Amino acid sequence: MKDAYLVINAGSSSIKFSLYFGNGDSKPVLKAKGQVEGINVAPHFIAQAVDGTVLAEQRWPADSNLVHQDLLKHLIDWVENHLDGARLVAAGHRVVHGGPRWSAPARITDELLDELESLVPLAPLHQPHNLAPIRALAVVHPGLVQVACFDTAFHRTNPKVAETFALPRELTEEGVRRYGFHGLSYEFIARRFKEIDPVRAAGKVVVCHLGSGASMCAIDNGRSVASTMGFTALDGLPMGTRTGTLDAGVVLYLLQQKGMNAAEIETLLYKKSGLLGVSGISNDMRVLLESNDPHAAEAVDLFCYRIRRELGSLAGAMGGLDALIFTAGIGEHSAPVRAMVCEGAGWLGIELDPAANAAHADKITTPASRLPVYVIPTDEEMMIAKHTRAVLAG
Ligand code: ADP
Repeated sequence: MKDAYLVINAGSSSIKFSLYFGNGDSKPVLKAKGQVEGINVAPHFIAQAVDGTVLAEQRWPADSNLVHQDLLKHLIDWVENHLDGARLVAAGHRVVHGGPRWSAPARITDELLDELESLVPLAPLHQPHNLAPIRALAVVHPGLVQVACFDTAFHRTNPKVAETFALPRELTEEGVRRYGFHGLSYEFIARRFKEIDPVRAAGKVVVCHLGSGASMCAIDNGRSVASTMGFTALDGLPMGTRTGTLDAGVVLYLLQQKGMNAAEIETLLYKKSGLLGVSGISNDMRVLLESNDPHAAEAVDLFCYRIRRELGSLAGAMGGLDALIFTAGIGEHSAPVRAMVCEGAGWLGIELDPAANAAHADKITTPASRLPVYVIPTDEEMMIAKHTRAVLAG
């Protein structure tokens, strides 16, 4: 009988799932995926086959009052009715924060859940939503093995100097330090790059994960040594709606001079800034690239400029650079953004091949380019499925 693994990636308004089948050491194979979106508004469930065919769909009215647990039960029921004779052996969850301790995925116990709950103040917008389906699943499916896969874990190989803010020591010891995020994506890319170019993968690589959340990571011989996100997922690059790195003095100005309170500042920094804030138009890179509005162009310019600056910074942290990799929504699909980053990084020895870039080829630099640049699709769900299977196997 085949084993089935359910992968869950839950946010504030949606629960995404992927169903994998696998046996023994074979790579998990994706069978179906889908999501419940519009939680707390008007929930909508959809399940799709790998080719995109819709397998099931359901909508609930806005006044249905369905909470996470009800919708998760619906999702689990659907999964259990579509196992094709396989046996659901475990669920793997994306959990944004594993704190300073967790450098690898972990099997969920009551003690671990309490520990992860204590990290909510470090990721208040994500962590509670990651933990809710774990608790809900324990109720609707008691006994099912559940595994937490942390977005911070891959970065626990960072040296202390890369993790430390220049704050009084007591704050650092209490946990106010850089953790880094998007770790599941970086881990997937590091492993994949080892298959594509084992020689360069043993060297110094910068990966740009450019999605609606965006960050960059310096990977030396397969291990994370620095990244642009820090204490929270707000640091580093400007994102769809997040500021990225900001002089902390601006926050003081907002508090003291503008009289804003913490909740207002949180909304400003997380939801109203980034590409949306600068353009005043959209948080979607596609919309900005198609717009003739100069503010849209300014937002795109700022995004690419910040990537180039961080590229220099991360290469400096590693003392060299052997390859650059683009991934995630913008990184995989936006040739203009990749071109703007690479054209300003000629000093690093990047010679872009415009035709390869336009075709989203695996490698988008010329054979003569001293620094090769790659486009590698990420797959965080596959990473979670592999980790879940490995934890289950002990
Ligand atoms: P998330 O970070 O939510 O997982 P993705 O990695 O899928 O999201 O990235 C989503 C972003 O990718 C969207 O906001 C959109 O701006 C961008 N994107 C997707 N396709 C393209 C494209 N063809 N050109 C430019 N940007 C794109």
